Amino acid sequence: MTLTTSDAHGIDTPAPAPVLSAEALAQLLTSLQSSGLRVEVPLSARAGGAGPADAGMLYIEGVQTTVPTSASYVESSPYALRGEDDGSWAVYQGSERLATAALAPRPKYYDLTTADGIPYHQIALLHLDSVASTVLQTCAYWGNDDQCQFCGIGVTLAQGRTIAKKTPAMLAEVALAAKELDGAVDATLTTGSTATPDRGAMYVGRCGQAVKEAAGLPVQVQFEPPSDLDVIDRVADLGIDSVGIHIETFDPAVLARVAPGKARWGIEAYFGAWERAVKAFGAGQVSTYVILGIGEDEKLTVEGCKRAIDLGVYPFIVPLRPVPGSLMEDFLPPPREAVEAVYRQVVPYLAQKGMSSSGVAAGCARCQACSGMGAFERSDGGTRDGRPSLPLFTKA
Ligand code: SF4
Repeated sequence: MTLTTSDAHGIDTPAPAPVLSAEALAQLLTSLQSSGLRVEVPLSARAGGAGPADAGMLYIEGVQTTVPTSASYVESSPYALRGEDDGSWAVYQGSERLATAALAPRPKYYDLTTADGIPYHQIALLHLDSVASTVLQTCAYWGNDDQCQFCGIGVTLAQGRTIAKKTPAMLAEVALAAKELDGAVDATLTTGSTATPDRGAMYVGRCGQAVKEAAGLPVQVQFEPPSDLDVIDRVADLGIDSVGIHIETFDPAVLARVAPGKARWGIEAYFGAWERAVKAFGAGQVSTYVILGIGEDEKLTVEGCKRAIDLGVYPFIVPLRPVPGSLMEDFLPPPREAVEAVYRQVVPYLAQKGMSSSGVAAGCARCQACSGMGAFERSDGGTRDGRPSLPLFTKA
């Protein structure tokens, strides 16, 4: 049984007023995403897929967050989730109560099935307040030398927890239910890469269009840089709000090792696609994942993030979350200090350029649950009056 806030404790809403400063909360969220959270109850979690996996979904001080909960390294985390006498939850370190917590309720739409018997949860999952789906659960790179080492797209499919292809009609039906029954506020749609010149962009775009028309939700779609950049304009013409075109790392040597299929297009192909996408979708509506903890050079990472920001691209920086069953399942997330060092160099630059997660219409950079970046933005890790207001790490 999955324990939820509503069925176990009668709590339907996130935790009460914060007891931590915004900066302390940002540091705690970053620590939890690096070390994980020991839980004595099963949390609503994902164990595979192309996006955040091994992700316990909860609210910490009311902030939506995903943290590792089930990987073996979590057993040595100093942080534990414990029940309180009044039926609420809190994060502890030893005997010290650090923060309030509330568990994400099991979505009501998970109990529904389509007319031909497909459970809604095999079509799209609710990631806190975003209805999310991998519309093509297959990838041209999966199972061969091109496979991205951090990815788990084939794992969930092999386990029978999803279906290989979701149609626009299926996604429209499920997204409407997620909005009406569970309060989803946007849709995040990704796809495995296809061997076609558009790399799957048009299919995920048409899925997004159907979701938007049926549910009226802002939609982000994610795809690889198409070989014909006009495809990006055609995706925009479908009414999509935001796009994710994910480089994963700005370190070319690491990209070649960790994501050889992506590396074949080269890092400049991402900048070319982003430039076209910013023209089509607007500054701040284009984002890229940047994964930390895969051997990347910090300086190259920060420089790449700043160059992307200069174009109007939001670099959504996340610590590696090793996916069970992926080629990196035995890796560890990077330490909190390394992640925070990058946030503290990139977040003020974002703010100086007038960009913020709060300006992103839909998708991962809007949600922020898998990163501490949004919390650092709110902690004045950005700037006040154009001046950094947090002490930045000095470099030797
Ligand atoms: S391109 Fe890489 S990250 Fe994306 S689905 Fe394929 S293997 Fe996974």
